[in-house]
Amino acid sequence: METASAFTPEPHDGSPAAHDSAPAPAHATRERLAAVRRYEILDAPTDGTFDEIAQIAADVFETPIATVTIVDADRVWFAACQGLEGVTQIGTEPGLCASAVLSDDLYVVRDAAVDPRTLDHPLVRGELGLRFYAAAPIITDDGHRLGTVNVIDQQPRKITPMQESVLSQLAKVVARHLDLRLATLRAVRAEQELRADAERRAAAAAELAERLRQSVSAHHGGERPETCELGGARQRCPQQAELKIVDGWGNAAWGCLSHAEESLFASGTFIANPEQAGLAAYLNRKGY
Ligand SMILES: [Zn+2]
Repeated sequence: METASAFTPEPHDGSPAAHDSAPAPAHATRERLAAVRRYEILDAPTDGTFDEIAQIAADVFETPIATVTIVDADRVWFAACQGLEGVTQIGTEPGLCASAVLSDDLYVVRDAAVDPRTLDHPLVRGELGLRFYAAAPIITDDGHRLGTVNVIDQQPRKITPMQESVLSQLAKVVARHLDLRLATLRAVRAEQELRADAERRAAAAAELAERLRQSVSAHHGGERPETCELGGARQRCPQQAELKIVDGWGNAAWGCLSHAEESLFASGTFIANPEQAGLAAYLNRKGY
């Protein structure tokens, strides 16, 4: 059993334990609830595996009821439930699952009507008339107990070593299945993020290419001035205008070869009309 020093305040709003003054119930430690949420199993549709495990447990114990449960802050949620049709969750009154997740050991109540741990439990006092309960905790790789695989009967019972062993093994199968399920969830999400990132990059590249294409075509075939426009505003360069250049924002100008070349290398501009004679002259002069 965990000691009182292991209790931590319940961090989640809306649960009965959220009041400042009241300590959290023993099953509602912050660490255990964080582990429960990490597996994202609560209220999730299940794939039938847990139903099969509950069925095996019921067969081995020959009990009318067997369930696979996850213990939340203020409810015990049924991942599978054989023999209790229509029940999806119960409360966290101490004595059954909420107590079974406090220890790594098997939790067995042979006769709930006389066992002080379960005398007052609603499933014992109420219509169901629970008398026998045996549960194995579902323990994650890092040691958190998420819930139980358990069997229930309305008659008092004894439990054999073979049955104890099977119940523990079934709880381990559930834990392994939950780990595989979590790994799959994470892999799918990582793949989705990679794909979304690639799509964002492709869209940005396409947008840039389109902007360049538009700026180039906007200046395609414009009037060619007699002389270079790149020499400076105060004193114009007298050289013949031979190359039209354009930048990524669509600003364009004609320049002589030396000023155009300076601009190409210095400020990330582009040759705007490569099929015109200016480029051929430029390349010829550079000896390409
Ligand atoms: Zn010039």
